[in-house]
Amino acid sequence: MDFTIISGFLDKIGKIMNLTEKELVLLKTPQRIHQAELELDGQKYPAYRIQYNDARGPTKGGIRYHWEVSFDEVKSLAFWMSLKTAVADVPFGGSKGGITVNPKELSQDQLQQLSRKWVQAFYRHIGPTKDIPAPDVYTTPQIMAWMMDEYEKLIGEKAPGVITGKPLEVGGSLVRDIATALGGIYVLEEAVKKVSLDKKTVAIQGFGNAGMNMAKLLFQSGYSIVAVSDSKGAIYNPLGLNVDELIHTKTQSGTVIAYKNGTTISNEALLELEVGVLVPSALSNVIHKENANKVKAKIVLELANGPTTPEADEILHQNKVLVLPDILSNSGGVTVSYFEWVQNNTGLYWKTEEVKERLREKMVVAFEKIWAEYENNNYDFRTNTYILAIKKILVAEKLRGRL
Ligand code: GLU
Repeated sequence: MDFTIISGFLDKIGKIMNLTEKELVLLKTPQRIHQAELELDGQKYPAYRIQYNDARGPTKGGIRYHWEVSFDEVKSLAFWMSLKTAVADVPFGGSKGGITVNPKELSQDQLQQLSRKWVQAFYRHIGPTKDIPAPDVYTTPQIMAWMMDEYEKLIGEKAPGVITGKPLEVGGSLVRDIATALGGIYVLEEAVKKVSLDKKTVAIQGFGNAGMNMAKLLFQSGYSIVAVSDSKGAIYNPLGLNVDELIHTKTQSGTVIAYKNGTTISNEALLELEVGVLVPSALSNVIHKENANKVKAKIVLELANGPTTPEADEILHQNKVLVLPDILSNSGGVTVSYFEWVQNNTGLYWKTEEVKERLREKMVVAFEKIWAEYENNNYDFRTNTYILAIKKILVAEKLRGRL
């Protein structure tokens, strides 16, 4: 991923919002960059923590383990976290971390050691009132538990609020496991009140935590899931896939394409299917200027971070496809992370329904605020979402006297 794409987009927004050069520079510059090289069994792994903006509170954001993790990617993701926490209206700034590693090639023991090493490298920079990590691509509740344990060992006291997305037994929150998908559902529910769908059909790209839970929840809400994919390819059945069987297949054989009741198609073809809703929930830049014109969905609900390039966004907007952007659609994850942190700090734990209700309220309010602006101007939904978030960050910067 290339930060210059974000930078170009910020220039465009800067013109719309009449931002000063100083404000633009602030938005384009991360506040603190931490890098390290982690050594394990003779191998070296680049590791990162980038704290992008803390004007609205302690920085917050996940840790990604992926072979494509790079400085530029972590920086982009940290920038998006700063906007996402503003959109979701949770009292945090934004950050992100990562390790350039293929976690599938590590044993459980190596995974644990590498995760502890990440904390050893960065523990002075994180903490419940400083910077709070969480899961992201290929990082799990188990990894969060190891990281919390390592942090507590290093500082010599308990600190469950240092990290979110933990297993329930060690201070996690109910609903956090499905929060990204559930938040997306709440956004979609509001969107279909505005843009009516003739077909309640869905194609989901990516079958990790977010994609899989999205398939389950949409299926339960009466949508027909006609296609899903993972890194090996996609499976398609116009009559609908059986989500429970699909999950069974994925856990048994490691890929959705082993599912029997459908035909295999390419990931590219999945994006171009004639469906009501397209849900990109894998990696970034999958909808770009070459394929945007072929997207036939009415709504694109972005569960992944950065799946659509700015050029594609413009094409989709012209084609009247409503793109519900990542920093809104997948903000359910960080919202329930915030609830987890509140519960850790107060020591009072909430019931499932309470978490869900609070999440719904946050998502509905965010959607409605952006929709009200969107209805009254010609900009696409993402531009309106960015404007809302940037305003909040800049107000906080000014109130602190830093701008
Ligand atoms: N990694 C998730 C995201 O990109 C969650 C971050 C968090 O919970 O802090 O939003």
